[in-house]
Amino acid sequence: MNLDKLQQWLQDSNNDLAYISNPITISYFTGYSMEPHERIFALIVLKDAEPFIFCPALNVEEAKASAWDGDVIGYLDSENPWNIIATNVKKRTHDTHNWAIEKDDLSVAHYQLLRGEFPNASFTNDVSPFIEKLRLYKTPEEIKKLQGAGAEADFAFKIGFDAIRTGVTERSIAGQIDYQLKIQKGVMHESFETIVQAGKNAANPHLGPTMNTVQPNELVLFDLGTMHDGYASDSSRTVAYGEPTAKQREIYEVDREAQQAAIEAAKPGITAEELDSVARDIITKAGYGEYFIHRLGHGIGKNVHEYPSIVQGNDLVLEEGMCFSIEPGIYIPGFAGVRIEDCGVVTKDGFETFTHTDKDLKVVPHKD
Ligand code: MN
Repeated sequence: MNLDKLQQWLQDSNNDLAYISNPITISYFTGYSMEPHERIFALIVLKDAEPFIFCPALNVEEAKASAWDGDVIGYLDSENPWNIIATNVKKRTHDTHNWAIEKDDLSVAHYQLLRGEFPNASFTNDVSPFIEKLRLYKTPEEIKKLQGAGAEADFAFKIGFDAIRTGVTERSIAGQIDYQLKIQKGVMHESFETIVQAGKNAANPHLGPTMNTVQPNELVLFDLGTMHDGYASDSSRTVAYGEPTAKQREIYEVDREAQQAAIEAAKPGITAEELDSVARDIITKAGYGEYFIHRLGHGIGKNVHEYPSIVQGNDLVLEEGMCFSIEPGIYIPGFAGVRIEDCGVVTKDGFETFTHTDKDLKVVPHKD
């Protein structure tokens, strides 16, 4: 169905064919998902002939057994893949002049080799913006997978909160989360490396996990997610290890209020930058604006970061079916960091989150 839309786009935009090279995009269009490493993996879509998957010979059988029911053409490591692609394209069509490529993915080296087979063709058109727009609106089926990924993130928080004790390393807690996800939930892999940060480490939003150990009366920040049926989760929670100080509680409550206000404001009709402002204004008024050092959120789907970007300067009007994170943070260097994050989907009249772990400040009692 999505492939029909791509073929229609080829016709409307006066392109003869598209060379799709990003494995995530290929999976989006075909249901076949694979990591080719340095080998060649492509989906070739022609405006008026049958598309085909091109992949290493060692993947041909799994591609044929996947949801994809079109042609699969393989190549051996000893063969020239570009030559085989060219032969199979020319078998299908004589119109090979205007190629659309994914400019945000195709490497210069591969582009030059492909071009070598079609020296008179034009490769100036970019199909990436069309694909981004297509992927912006999630179907009910995709939303179900995002909810499934969210449930796994909620499970991961439980494991993480239980693993906190004095002297445990951030890396150990992250390892326990990943291990339990694998053995209890069958999670194949996380959507990014599980982040656990204690104390002042949490002031660096993407640091770690390190060999830093948890100490009493620190805030501990978790940012984690899984891949579920090809779709990502991404969620953050911050908890207190022992009774928090007044200042720790203050930054937590300000961040929580900002996140809650943004969740309540998210609905069709508001723009991405307006939504960012809802949270940012609350944090700024409380005196912490300079410590909120990133955008409010990012889109989520097959990629843990995709469109739309919830950021100042983006006047995109949010619509039903768009999925993204709402994740204000306050990071005070040398002191602590707080981030509370849920991803969700814009509904007819609001925003429904994929994660549901409680957001009252959780106080984990001291443990040795
Ligand atoms: Mn995120």
